[in-house]
Amino acid sequence: MSENITLKEEFNNICECFENYPLAKHSTFKIGGPAEYCAFPKTVGELCALLTIAKMNGVRARVFGGASNLLLSSQGVAGLVILTTKMKGISLENGCVRALAGTRLSELCNFAARESLCGAEFLFGIPGTVGGAVYMNAGAHGGEVSHILVESICYDTEKDEILTLTAEEHELAYRQSVFSKRPLIVLSSLFKLCKGEHAEIEAKMKALTEKRRQSQPLDMPSAGSVFKRPSAGFAGKYIEDAGLKGLRIGGAEVSRKHAGFIVNAGGATSQDVLELIEKTKEEVFRLFGVMLETEIMYIE
Ligand SMILES: Cc1cc2nc3c(=O)[nH]c(=O)nc-3n(C[C@H](O)[C@H](O)[C@H](O)COP(=O)(O)OP(=O)(O)OC[C@H]3O[C@@H](n4cnc5c(N)ncnc54)[C@H](O)[C@@H]3O)c2cc1C
Repeated sequence: MSENITLKEEFNNICECFENYPLAKHSTFKIGGPAEYCAFPKTVGELCALLTIAKMNGVRARVFGGASNLLLSSQGVAGLVILTTKMKGISLENGCVRALAGTRLSELCNFAARESLCGAEFLFGIPGTVGGAVYMNAGAHGGEVSHILVESICYDTEKDEILTLTAEEHELAYRQSVFSKRPLIVLSSLFKLCKGEHAEIEAKMKALTEKRRQSQPLDMPSAGSVFKRPSAGFAGKYIEDAGLKGLRIGGAEVSRKHAGFIVNAGGATSQDVLELIEKTKEEVFRLFGVMLETEIMYIE
């Protein structure tokens, strides 16, 4: 950083950036203290420039999308948080669909439906972005990102270079990918969909939305399923059978509608949620000998 320009000014020269920025309103959990710096790039160039400046200044940078799979510390997050939700765009490319990392999954699905392309309907209703979905290999109703992904264009923050990752190189498995091992940021991804009937695609998306509405506590803030699916059975079923529905610590509560969700019932802190996760794990292990693995990621 040069002597007479602050780091915030450097980030601000690239795109909108705030200091001590409250994160809660951007997380689906509505939990999270201030980010030391929070930036909203609109283009791939801005995102890469932010990462470069942060690195040059020894500042840790973290890239989030919809913050829908995260538990952000109520104490705040040090360094630079980059939210990609303004970096969006979708286009057709040789019969495939290319989407910028910050594109909402609902926008991707609506685009595909308008083009009468099927295969992405399972993503409808997942409140994340393309980048987050690729990182998580998001899935629902028997579909997952690995079924439709062709490639991603990524930024390697270690080598400062842009590269193309084939579907195989993503190493996608159940809620798992290469991105937890390699310093890669998704800039855009390409999806292969099939020609379908517009009305059928719309009808499927509508039916899946209704299914979610009936089974999930969509009227309360959450980060979706808290735990991964165990090797046998379902996390929600174990939690329900353990009698934990409605268990509350502070403002965090095991959902009464879907025991696999923890909801923010009002004023929950990240500590409330962490304690409730631990209590749930302990009880399920004590009663059924099953060790639940957390799917949502704690960020501090
Ligand atoms: C009500 C509800 C229902 C849900 N239902 C489902 C479901 O059915 N299936 C499912 O799989 N998930 C579900 N989720 C969880 C979540 O929506 C998904 O995991 C989603 O894919 C996360 O996307 P995101 O953009 O919010 O990622 P974030 O939560 O912002 O980030 C998740 C991870 O991805 C990384 N990341 C984000 N963007 C990038 C990028 N551009 N490059 C590299 N890394 C990046 C982050 O650093 C972080 O490690 C649900 C959540 C809620 C709240």
